Amino acid sequence: MAASANTLRSSALALCYSAAEYCAPFWSCSAHTGQVDVQLNSTMCLISGTLHSTPLPWLPLLYKIELPALQRKAATDKLVKKIVKHDSLPIQPDILSPPLLRLTSRKPLWLDLQPVDIKSRWRHNWKSTQVVNSHLVCTPTIRQPGFNLPRQQWSLLNRFSMEQGHCGASRRTWRLTDTDLCPCGETLTMSHVVESCPLTNLNGGLSRLLSG
Ligand SMILES: [Zn+2]
Repeated sequence: MAASANTLRSSALALCYSAAEYCAPFWSCSAHTGQVDVQLNSTMCLISGTLHSTPLPWLPLLYKIELPALQRKAATDKLVKKIVKHDSLPIQPDILSPPLLRLTSRKPLWLDLQPVDIKSRWRHNWKSTQVVNSHLVCTPTIRQPGFNLPRQQWSLLNRFSMEQGHCGASRRTWRLTDTDLCPCGETLTMSHVVESCPLTNLNGGLSRLLSG
């Protein structure tokens, strides 16, 4: 039996995210954090059954897992708050009266001591993102409709939302087939199936599919 979305979410948080956030305040300003994010995105694709071509802003939203960069910033904010509060910590002067920059490429954490509110920043990022079908989701910080569906249906629903699935157009791009045509004669894309195909379209289209 396939694991529920909740089980997959907890497993990913416990096994991948916790390891990927270990001591994050000390390396969150590194230029190589992108490599960690690549692995986390890959985890998200695996547990959500989405394809690697899925637009990235959609991924954290599926499981309501905050963006890794924001999580790292929040962990840093927490640490800075603790350091500022405790006068006895030897690291305090380094944060409050930091040494002059010696190398211009350094990005020390005291350059950004403004705490971040993960949820509002995420909402803001989502609103300004130019990703396909982003209008379908008003609030990225809540559990999205369909989360409790059996995994196979939920995963298929996500593929329709993100317009990334095993349809003719994608399969042709991947050179798995010679034709990208639907039996109706139009190009077979994920949105064509629900929105415009005379053979399969759903009255109300994708919005209706998502509203159940
Ligand atoms: Zn068609």
